[in-house]
Amino acid sequence: MHNIYPRCSLCRNTPLNGLYDGFRLAGKFICSACEEQIMTADVRTPKYQENLLLIRKVLYGQSADYICGQSNR
Ligand SMILES: [Zn+2]
Repeated sequence: MHNIYPRCSLCRNTPLNGLYDGFRLAGKFICSACEEQIMTADVRTPKYQENLLLIRKVLYGQSADYICGQSNR
């Protein structure tokens, strides 16, 4: 048993498989779901720009909360 369950810096969810279900970027964790979203987003769509912004926030260590307006409640 281990309790290494990181929280995704983008969606703030903890993936089921912990560290194995995503990757780390600049010391922050990004879950596989967000990774897939980032990888599959079309460059010409607003979603892609949104993802870029989110990643920049992660890299610069700022909160992305104001971009991710919708939280899962
Ligand atoms: Zn995520």
